[in-house]
This record gives sequence, structure tokens and C-alpha cells, in this order.
Amino acid sequence: MSLHVVVVGAGIVGAATAIELLRDGCQVTIIEPGIPGGEQAASYGNGAWLSPGSIVPMSMPGLWRKVPGFLLDPLGPLTIRWKSLPTLMPWLVRFILSGSTVSRVEKTARALSALLADAPSRHGALAREAGVPHLIEQRGLLYVYPERAAFESEALAWRLRRDNGIRWIELEADELYQREPALDRRYRFGVLVEAGAHCVDPGEYVASLVRHAQSLGASLRRARVTGFDIQNGKLAAVLTDQGAIDCDRAVIAAGIRSRELAKAAGDRVSLASERGYHVVIKDPEVAPNAPVMPSDGKMANTLTTGGLRAAGQVELASVDAPPNWKRADVLLDHLRRTYPALPRDIAADRIKYWMGHRPSTPDGLPVIGPASATSDIIHAFGHGHVGLAAGPMTASLVAEIIGGRTPSAPITAYSASRF
Ligand SMILES: Cc1cc2nc3c(=O)[nH]c(=O)nc-3n(C[C@H](O)[C@H](O)[C@H](O)COP(=O)(O)OP(=O)(O)OC[C@H]3O[C@@H](n4cnc5c(N)ncnc54)[C@H](O)[C@@H]3O)c2cc1C
Repeated sequence: MSLHVVVVGAGIVGAATAIELLRDGCQVTIIEPGIPGGEQAASYGNGAWLSPGSIVPMSMPGLWRKVPGFLLDPLGPLTIRWKSLPTLMPWLVRFILSGSTVSRVEKTARALSALLADAPSRHGALAREAGVPHLIEQRGLLYVYPERAAFESEALAWRLRRDNGIRWIELEADELYQREPALDRRYRFGVLVEAGAHCVDPGEYVASLVRHAQSLGASLRRARVTGFDIQNGKLAAVLTDQGAIDCDRAVIAAGIRSRELAKAAGDRVSLASERGYHVVIKDPEVAPNAPVMPSDGKMANTLTTGGLRAAGQVELASVDAPPNWKRADVLLDHLRRTYPALPRDIAADRIKYWMGHRPSTPDGLPVIGPASATSDIIHAFGHGHVGLAAGPMTASLVAEIIGGRTPSAPITAYSASRF
């Protein structure tokens, strides 16, 4: 008898996990209250980077000195809403501590590297299997700086990347402009990570993966999971607002909404929303050839099928607080300054704004592995800034755990018991 596994959530993590489990011969039910790949999911609106080099945690040594600035500048690249401060305090303290020493961030980078190193090839294979190879492109990922000194000021970040096998090409101004003619001339230095790739339509990609899972036999149920029926340490059923679903195993992949479900599975995890925004300019007059990360904006500029997307900003606030669209305006302004041939006045119907929730743990590592109440429930959430890229490797680890095989990468660092 094959195992019946319920996958909770159809973002990139749930979609990729469903496919891995089907490959292993499991019977799979995906439960999702929204549309797979829809705007409710972080997987829809992200920067679309499949970046093996995104192993540098947000919290780095010396960060605590910047906290007053985060509180005072509501439109800075990282901000904390005053109202949410009391609730966020425990998370913030852990966040600062997790990056307080070089050895801590080295450990985090190694654990992230295990999830991201082969992200481009895993996504390429997944997209081919799902019949949508055109949604993944490999043009490298380009980091641009006003001058070499600005790159050198990020020495620790680039050393962490080098130590974890990331190679790059340094581009002086002339070569940079040859590759990226549309780029503003205030950027005079670039770093190209050729191994990086991107997805040209993350929402459609996730939707395609779910359709592929259905074609392999998965069933998709429109419902919201509310808890679990656990009897004598065994999972009997997943509880939903549409009734109970009997099953042998469950995977919690509900993004930012995973915290309450983890609690129902016996684990108190520290998970906060690092809210992020995007702006998309439809039919842009100019666009970069490869995705670009300008050092002074810390946002991904990526040409997607919907237009030129700038995705970024970190806003620590409660999940249900209303969006502050001025933050998306900041992205739009920056985009115009990065590609000066974009017009000042762009018709409103060519511009689209979005806000979403990075499901973030304070140490920047996801939660992957068996739950405390029963090992029949597997956690697969908390991927913060890198969940799109890390989805396939996470899926692989989850399938290995459920299949009783030794995980192909150590999973201790991702354990829910670390909180
Ligand atoms: C602005 C921004 C830029 C980013 N850029 C990048 C990037 O360039 N590269 C990268 O790798 N990552 C990036 N990320 C991070 C990435 O998008 C996330 O880490 C990733 O999408 C998380 O995927 P997920 O499947 O865990 O969650 P989600 O995509 O949020 O999916 C969770 C799903 O679970 C469903 N759900 C919620 N509650 C329940 C419930 N009770 N029952 C059933 N289902 C439920 C939701 O409806 C949703 O569809 C970015 C994020 C943001 C916000």
C-alpha cells in the first residue's frame, strides 16, 4: 500500500514536494485555499532569482548598530514598523544574535549552500519535466556597484560565497556597459555569477508544477488546513475548514501561515513576515539582459513575461498589517534611476504593485524535518529570502525523510527544535 501524503500549501515548496513524493510512489493530496501560484503566495511575486550565491544571511556581524536607522527610516531597504515592535522583539533579538559572529554566519552560509548550490539545474530539470522549460533561463546574475570599493566593502559576504564554491567574473565599467547598455553610468563595477539562473514567471511556474503533479495523479483540494488529528503519536488525519482528510503523512508547506500549523504539530517556531514588495513595468522601453542587483537598492531587477520586475524591500510588520505602497514607489523610482531610458511618466495601467510575505526565521534557515508531536508530520517552511531557489532541494529532502532514506544533505541545522 502506498502512503497517502497530504501536502499543505501549493507554493513552490508544496508544488515541488508533491512531485517528488509522486515519483516515490506516494498518493498525494495538495490542500490550498487559494489558486496555486496565485498572488497570495510569496512564490508569486518574488525577485525570481535562482541564486546559488544567496547564502549570505540578512543578519551579519555589526547589524545591531543599524537597528535605530531601521526604526527611523520608514522607506529604507529594511524597516521595522513601530506598532509591531513589541510582538517582533523576541524574533529580532534572535535575528541579531544569529549573525553576531563570523563563525555563526559561516555556519548559516554552509547550511544554505546545501539547499542552493544546484538550484539552477534542479529547476531546469523540474521545468523540463513539467513541460515548461522556457520558464527557466540561465543568463547569470549580475551584482552592480558604483565602484570596486563598494564591492570590496562587502568582503565578508563574497568570502562566504567563495568558500562555498561560488565563482564570479568581475566586470570593469566598459565591459559592464557592453553587457548591459541600459544601465545607468553611475554603476561602474559589476560581478557576474554565471551559474545563476532565473524564472521568467514564478506564478505560472508554480501553477504548471501543480498541474504536472495532478497529471501524475495528485489531487488538489481547495481548503484551509486548521490542524491535525494525532492519536497515540500517529497522524490520523489533517483537519481542514472543509472537513478531515485521512492520511499517513503530512507536509507543512504553508509559507508564512506555517507557524500555527507547526504549533499544532508540537513545535513552537520563531517565524516572522519579512514583508516584501514588487513593481512590474509592462512592456518596458529598456531592460537588463541578465537579472541585476544594484548594491544601493538591494532589489532584484528581472525581466519577466509580465514586464520588468523590481522586487525587494524588507518590512518587519505583522502579517495582517496593510501594505505601505510607498515602498513599491521606492522600487519604481529606483528602477527609473537604474535604467534612465525608462520614461518619467508611465501610464498607470502599465504598472503593477504587489506585497507578499517572506516566511522568515531569525537565523535565515528554513525548518525542514519531522515534527515533535509525530514524525508523520514533516516541516518544510521558513525559507525567507531564498524559497523559490531552495524549493526543489527541500522537496528532495522531504521525500527522503518520508521514504525512510538518509537525507542527501544533513538536516540538523534546519530542525524545529533549535528555537
Ligand atoms: C519581495 C520578495 C522577493 C523575493 N525574491 C526571491 C528570489 O529572488 N529568489 C528566491 O529564491 N526567493 C525569493 N523570495 C522568497 C520566496 O518567494 C519565498 O521564500 C518562497 O516563495 C516561499 O515559498 P513557500 O512555498 O514556502 O510559501 P508560499 O509561496 O507563500 O506558499 C504557501 C502557500 O500555502 C498556502 N496556505 C497558507 N495557509 C494555508 C493553510 N492553512 N492550509 C493550506 N494552505 C495554506 C498559501 O495560500 C500559499 O499558496 C522573495 C520573497 C519576496 C517577498
